[in-house]
Amino acid sequence: MSMRTDANDTYAINKVIFQKETELLDKLLEIDYGPKVDYIYNPIVYASQVHNDYLTKYCNGPKDILFLGMNPGPWGMMQNGVPFGECISVRDFLQLTGTVDKPSREHPSKPVLGLACNRSEVSGKRFWELANVLGGGSAELFFKNAFVYNYFPLGLLNSNGKNITPPELKADVQKKIEQLCDETLSDILCLLQVKIIVGIGRFAEKRAKNVCTEKQHACKVVFISHPSPRNPASNRDWLSATKRLIIDYNLAHYFSIDKEYWMKEALAHAEQALKEGEVPVGCLFIKDNKIIAVGSNDVNRTRNATRHAEMICIDTVLNSESAEVFADISVIVTVEPCIMCASALHDLRVRQILYGCPNDRFGGCGSVFDVASVHKRPVPVIGGIHSDHAMNLLKTFYKGVNPNAPPNKVKTKNKDSSHSS
Ligand SMILES: [Zn+2]
Repeated sequence: MSMRTDANDTYAINKVIFQKETELLDKLLEIDYGPKVDYIYNPIVYASQVHNDYLTKYCNGPKDILFLGMNPGPWGMMQNGVPFGECISVRDFLQLTGTVDKPSREHPSKPVLGLACNRSEVSGKRFWELANVLGGGSAELFFKNAFVYNYFPLGLLNSNGKNITPPELKADVQKKIEQLCDETLSDILCLLQVKIIVGIGRFAEKRAKNVCTEKQHACKVVFISHPSPRNPASNRDWLSATKRLIIDYNLAHYFSIDKEYWMKEALAHAEQALKEGEVPVGCLFIKDNKIIAVGSNDVNRTRNATRHAEMICIDTVLNSESAEVFADISVIVTVEPCIMCASALHDLRVRQILYGCPNDRFGGCGSVFDVASVHKRPVPVIGGIHSDHAMNLLKTFYKGVNPNAPPNKVKTKNKDSSHSS
């Protein structure tokens, strides 16, 4: 445990991890894997661009949770150097880029096509779907407190092109692998200051437990079943069952917030605004799963066109907390923030923006203009949460059919209709 890390030194961690991996590979390549293994794929080397893009984007500080996989699959990590690297997920969800070279010897049935590969792979597809759900649609939020790492980084194929996993190797070869890979895993646990290891499959769970015992790591080790279709238990809705386990292990709070739940709360505030003759937009600022600010449009009452729901929440926070708190705040707002509010939320660097229906007239998250496109570090934005409910409230307001609105308020609504959030 001699390795020192500095949480602020975001550059170093990914570099040190890559160095550790390279050192491990040098040693693993000296092993004689026996007659069963005809092809050795070394994706961390021939796909080093994509692999390093993965480390740079997603391994830039301490991680409480390490998802531990076993080894590269032919249509996953062997294609691009990313654990569970189903190419479609790597491109679309992880948004990784880079050119990929070829392994030194390639089996004709398992060609490496890099990010151009369009073949889906069940394990990777399932795993990154889980990450997508846990991150509330955002890879950044999934990786905020978590990282995904494969225990054994080489791809091994027999003469028929079949993938050979470490447990299928002879006992003495397995032992050599375990000595080397345990050591590197131990180093990575220290570097990332991991608290919980999620073993994906029994092999990974066993190695994690062994390393924690042998190297005296205080990590907790939990198990999720491997998403591979080879594993019959995983073919019965792996995603729901695994999500359930993450909640049962009390890990959900490391990821995203319950956006559906909070959106319903925000909609209640939008309904209240409607009753008060305001454009029905409700907003909540959530930190550590608690509401720290509530706002609804207050434009008509104050005759101030900037009194949008989001601005009211921002003021509440600034009145009681330091601006640093915004980094931990999830913004829940029933309508896509307008360009003014979206700009303010980006400048304050909130954690994420979750909205209900689009704002076709003033939307600053893509409908009219995408504020994120002019920011160096864009805030993750997810829309469409209970969109119909939010839209119906707006329609009710603009049609003036709200039976609860007092007559005088209904009369004033049209002239203020431009102040939609
Ligand atoms: Zn606004």
